[in-house]
Amino acid sequence: MKTMQAYRFALDLTPSQERAVLAHAGAARVAHNWALARVKAVMDQRAAERSYGVADADLTPAVGWSLPALRKAWNAAKGDVAPWWAECSKEAFNTGLDALARALKNWADSRAGKRAGRPVGFPRFKSRRRTRPSVRFTTGAIRVEADRKHVMLPRLGRLKTHESTRKLTRRVDAGAARILSATVRRDGGRWYVSFTCEVQRADRVPTHPFSTVGVDVGVTHLAVLSTGELVPNPRHLDTAGRRMRRLARRMSRRVGPDRRTGQRPSNRWERARRQMTRAHARVANLRRDGLHKLTTRLARQYGTVVVEDLNVAGMLRNRRLARRIADAGFAELRRQLAYKTEWNGGRLVVADRWYPSSKTCSGCGAVKTKLALSERTYTCTTCGLVLDRDLNAARNLAALAAEVDTAGSGPVAGRGANRKTRHGGPVAAKRQPGTAPAGKAGTAPPQGRAA
Ligand SMILES: [Zn+2]
Repeated sequence: MKTMQAYRFALDLTPSQERAVLAHAGAARVAHNWALARVKAVMDQRAAERSYGVADADLTPAVGWSLPALRKAWNAAKGDVAPWWAECSKEAFNTGLDALARALKNWADSRAGKRAGRPVGFPRFKSRRRTRPSVRFTTGAIRVEADRKHVMLPRLGRLKTHESTRKLTRRVDAGAARILSATVRRDGGRWYVSFTCEVQRADRVPTHPFSTVGVDVGVTHLAVLSTGELVPNPRHLDTAGRRMRRLARRMSRRVGPDRRTGQRPSNRWERARRQMTRAHARVANLRRDGLHKLTTRLARQYGTVVVEDLNVAGMLRNRRLARRIADAGFAELRRQLAYKTEWNGGRLVVADRWYPSSKTCSGCGAVKTKLALSERTYTCTTCGLVLDRDLNAARNLAALAAEVDTAGSGPVAGRGANRKTRHGGPVAAKRQPGTAPAGKAGTAPPQGRAA
């Protein structure tokens, strides 16, 4: 099975290497901003001319938005715009122009209704302060060294990795992986290189191919499985979260930057900010680690994994739940399960957003009309079942897989789901489960359960 896969390693850069990477990332930003300004200027000019009644044929000619067109324009102008251009690899400028070409395309597609998901805005200028430095290499000498401690990149040369590159090196040596590109990026105060590879993966079968597990992403737990297992949150996550909040207070007591008064941040504020960045990174790492361990285990073990299609974007707007939900990383769990079940020969079933997994009794199938979030225990008024709320939901999800098999619909909800429900607005809110239009691929109607 051929897949695209990323391998990411932390780097230990020397100060001069770090300066070189930052110079390249800056070059990417300069090229991006220059090209964006040019596209904008021509667009504004054409709009103005149109408003004066100039015929379409006589307008200022439009400039191309494709990467080759942008690159051609940049190469013609770089001598004036960036006389220092020879100091950086051409890949640096390409990074910025490529990002812009994609952003413009996404924006145009989104406006034309050709793109699923939330609307995409017009690209913005990249700021030196706020942009995460990043540069991508697609050509030239990109390789992992045989000593498994270094990587080789064009212009930047030999960089030391903080961790062993064994996982990737072994695949490359066996001829099972081909490196397509490498991106160097700073994240949480640390440098990383990530390789995009084409990987030949062995075909696998889950340990129990015909078993099914329902996963309900909990509030107090990382997840609750229909088997009755409670997967706890990663250890130290609370401690790390407390530290994060304490550092936030420390930062607010120190003198930070103020653009209105031109106040420069104090050294003590800068120091606190660095600590804060590291604390954020630690929380993110703990969470990612916990999710990866869980999803790997589920995908290796079970033939079918069932999860809910949660409206994460909608829930994040709920400020009280926001931190909790961000913590649990619902969307990330689903994303990981989607590719890991595929790698392991299993499948992922995503329940319809309106499927009442929490409100249905997993014993008799009766559906409650109301269930407050504060009710942590499910008590059925029909059959008298008393069960943990999340476990009840997980069992319902597991039972759903059997219905998908008989109904014969596809396993995963389509990406366009977000958009449909939003446009449907009030209608969608009133819609009863199982009455979704036929085009909504892959959602499982809960028919026959409430009977
Ligand atoms: Zn019941």
